[in-house]
Amino acid sequence: MPSNPLQTLLTQDPGLPNPNPTSAYWQSPSHPLSNTQSPTLVLTTDIAIIGSGITGLSVLLTLLERHPDLKMTVLEARSLCSGATGRNGGQLAANAGEEYVHLVEEYGREEAGKIVRFTFENLRRMRELARRFAREESEVQEVVKVRVFLEEAGFERFRRGVDALERDVPELKGVYTVLESEVLKRDYHLDGAGGALLPAGTLWPYRLVTKAFASLWEEYAQRLNIETQTPVTSIAFDGTNPSHPYILHTPRGCLHAKKVVHCTNGHAGHLLPGLRGAVYPFKGTMTVQDGGSTVPNRGGDLSWGFHYPVIYDKQSSRYAGGLYYLMQNAKTGHFFFGGEDTRVDHCLSADDSRVEEGSITQLQQKLPQFLGHDGPEQWRLISGWSGIMGFSGDGLPLVGRANAAMTTRHGEGEYVAAAFNGYGMANCLLAGEALAKIMLDEDVSAWLPNAYGIHETRVTELLAVDRVIKSFALDG
Ligand SMILES: Cc1cc2nc3c(=O)[nH]c(=O)nc-3n(C[C@H](O)[C@H](O)[C@H](O)COP(=O)(O)OP(=O)(O)OC[C@H]3O[C@@H](n4cnc5c(N)ncnc54)[C@H](O)[C@@H]3O)c2cc1C
Repeated sequence: MPSNPLQTLLTQDPGLPNPNPTSAYWQSPSHPLSNTQSPTLVLTTDIAIIGSGITGLSVLLTLLERHPDLKMTVLEARSLCSGATGRNGGQLAANAGEEYVHLVEEYGREEAGKIVRFTFENLRRMRELARRFAREESEVQEVVKVRVFLEEAGFERFRRGVDALERDVPELKGVYTVLESEVLKRDYHLDGAGGALLPAGTLWPYRLVTKAFASLWEEYAQRLNIETQTPVTSIAFDGTNPSHPYILHTPRGCLHAKKVVHCTNGHAGHLLPGLRGAVYPFKGTMTVQDGGSTVPNRGGDLSWGFHYPVIYDKQSSRYAGGLYYLMQNAKTGHFFFGGEDTRVDHCLSADDSRVEEGSITQLQQKLPQFLGHDGPEQWRLISGWSGIMGFSGDGLPLVGRANAAMTTRHGEGEYVAAAFNGYGMANCLLAGEALAKIMLDEDVSAWLPNAYGIHETRVTELLAVDRVIKSFALDG
C-alpha cells in the first residue's frame, strides 16, 4: 500500500478516456469524420494504432507513405482527435531556453543539443504539415512569443540557459532576445523580473489533425480503417496465431493485429501497466476569454508565456504548475489562456469530463492582471475545458518498442510514443515519425534523442516512482 498520497495518484490506472469530455472550443464545429467507423469492426489488421491525436496521425502518415501495402487501423475511444491534441493551448513554441541548463546537467551538452534541435525541427515540420493538409483551416500564425519570468531566480536561470544554448548550438544564436524588466514593461506593458522574445507560432491543432486524417482516409481508402468510438479495453497476446498474435478487445468486438502502436499519451498506463508512475496523466485547464473591444488584438504578432516557480504545498494539497500560456486568435481577438493552480489530485487525474470550478476562476483573474489591466475585472468567459497530458518523471517523451515489463504480455510487437510533458506540438510529429521508422527497422539514431528512448536504465532508474515523486513534488 503506497504510503505517500502522491504515489497513489501517480501510479493509479488512468483508465479509458471519459466518454463525456468537457467540450473544447477547438472542436466546434466537429469534423465530418469525427464519429466515423466501419459498419462492423474489421477482424484483422497489420498495424493497430490506438489513439487519433497528432502522434497517432504521424505514425499513420509515415507508415502509409513508406510501406506500400500495410493495412492500418486507427482505434479511437471517443471522437477523432478528442484528446489533448483537440484541447490544447494552440502554441507552437520551444522550451529550449528554460530547459537547457537542466538538460546539460542531466544528459551532457551533445545530447542536450540533440533534444533542442529535435524540438525546433519538429516545430518547423508542424508548419509544413499544416501547409500540406490544412493551409487555411489550421490558421497558423507566425508570432513572437514573449516569455515573462515573474521572479528573479527563474529569469537568471533562463538567461544562463540561453547563453549556454548559444555557445553549444550555434545555429540557434540570436533565436532568443533576452529582455530586462524595464524593456518588458516599456515595450510590452508586462510586469516581471525579465523576459525574452522567441520566434513561435500559433495554430488550430484539431482542424489540422482531423483534416490530415480525412486526406489520408481518402487517399489510402483500400488499406486504412478509422474506428472512432472504439475504446481498446484490453490487449491479449495469442502465441498460437503467429501472423496476428495481438487481440485488441473493444466493445464492438475483437481486432487481431500483427503489431500494436500505443499513441494514447496520458492514458498509456491503462494498456501498458508497467508504465504507470513512469508516465502519468496530468490534467490541464484551458479557457477562451474575451477582453472586449478596448483590448488590442495582437494575435497576429504575439503570444505569451508566464513563468513562476512550481508550488506544491503538502498541507493544503495546492499545486501550481509554474507556467501560464496565452495566445490570441488573430481573427476574433479571443484569448486562449491556460495554466494550473489547483489541488494536486485535480491535476493528477485522467478525467477530462469536468473542470474544477477554481481552475477557471483563477484563469479569469490572472489574464487581465498579466496583461496589465489592474482591478477586479474579469473578462467574458467564452469557453472552459480540461484535457489530459502525459507527463514523465524525467520530463522527456518516451519513444520506442514497449518491453515486456511495460506490456506485462508476451510478444515483441508493441510500440509506444507518449509523455510529451505539455510540449506536444514541439515533439509529437517527429516522435511519431521516429516510432514508425523504428517499426520499419530504419535507423533514427542520428536525430531521435537517445534520452527519449526506451532503455533499461531509463525505465528502472530515471523513471522509478520515487524519483518521479521527487521531480513532481520537488521534495517528495
Ligand atoms: C490543456 C492543454 C494545453 C496544452 N497546450 C499545449 C500547447 O500550447 N503547445 C504544445 O506544444 N502542447 C500543448 N499541450 C500538449 C499537447 O496537446 C499534447 O502533448 C499532444 O497533443 C499529445 O498528442 P498525442 O497524440 O500523443 O495524444 P492525444 O492527443 O491525447 O491523443 C491520444 C488519443 O488516444 C485516445 N485513447 C486513449 N486511450 C485509448 C484507448 N484505450 N482506446 C482507444 N483510444 C484511446 C484518446 O481518446 C486520445 O484521442 C497541451 C495539452 C493540454 C491538455
